[in-house]
Amino acid sequence: MSAVIIDGRAIADEIERAIRHDVSNYCSLYNIAPSLVVIALGKDPRSMSYIRQKTRVCARVGIRDRTIFLPLETPEEDLLDAVCAMNEDSSVHAVLIQEPLPKHIASLKILQAIDPIKDVDGFHPENVGLSVVGAPRHEPCTPKGIFEALHRIGCAPAGRHAVIVGRSNLVGKPMMNMLIQKTERANATATLCHTGTPDLAFHTRQADILIAAAGRPELIKGDMIKPGAAVIDVGINAVDDPSSKKGYRLVGDVHFESAREVASALTPVPGGVGPLTCVMLASNTLAAARLAAESRS
Ligand code: NAP
Repeated sequence: MSAVIIDGRAIADEIERAIRHDVSNYCSLYNIAPSLVVIALGKDPRSMSYIRQKTRVCARVGIRDRTIFLPLETPEEDLLDAVCAMNEDSSVHAVLIQEPLPKHIASLKILQAIDPIKDVDGFHPENVGLSVVGAPRHEPCTPKGIFEALHRIGCAPAGRHAVIVGRSNLVGKPMMNMLIQKTERANATATLCHTGTPDLAFHTRQADILIAAAGRPELIKGDMIKPGAAVIDVGINAVDDPSSKKGYRLVGDVHFESAREVASALTPVPGGVGPLTCVMLASNTLAAARLAAESRS
């Protein structure tokens, strides 16, 4: 079997067109564009690349977007002040803190300071709780993008066994939660694996849908995949490659060549999950702007 390669960019373009249309309607209705503020500490090259991608998507769909760069050594109190200022600014609909944050900052404290209505990353405990009880407000962009892509490639989760590798708050846990909800669009049976899971391959071989989010280059080989499974590779790992100009290349958590012989569908790295994440941020920003408008009327 040779897997269909899932074109994340094409799916993201399709979603983006719909968002552009909805943003335009929002602007006509409220005479203001949805607006997103990203707060970043320092200029970590990987974060910068992600920020640039977000900026491009926002510009294309008509979202006003601004990044506030603070020095890496900014004290926690000053970062909290910056978050509070954005919470209070009614012209700002969405606030995102660029991770990773330096070690002297308590990440959870910062996330809890964001107005949950403006928390478009969906990491505020109130938003996490709402998702868990099946009443989602903002859901994290990466799992939301994957969920949408599964539907668009004809691999709806209902009745399927999804296996997720990785239990981060960013990807693994919210992915699990989305898949197991008792709704028509979800309703999967799901297994979550991590470093404490004995015999990872035993579990991954049960998966109709395998989602790899471990941050370990090429951890999942073809022989760990059930024939015909849909495989979503979230990982982005830089590995040394002297033959490349940059001295490295990006690989996923899935060994692409062996996986494509077994899977029925597979996301590439790059060009798979990444573009979906960015477009979902635009979707959440529009949703936050709508919530702000509803609360005013
Ligand atoms: P993370 O916070 O480092 O979490 C990794 C998870 O994988 C942990 O739960 C860890 O288990 C588990 N894990 C690591 N090695 C494992 C192994 N050998 N067997 C089983 N489980 C293992 O990472 P993350 O933030 O979720 O990100 C995961 C990857 O996705 C990274 O490469 C990241 O760059 C990428 N990413 C991509 C996008 C995108 O838009 N494409 C978005 C977000 C993240 P423990 O909990 O036991 O330590």
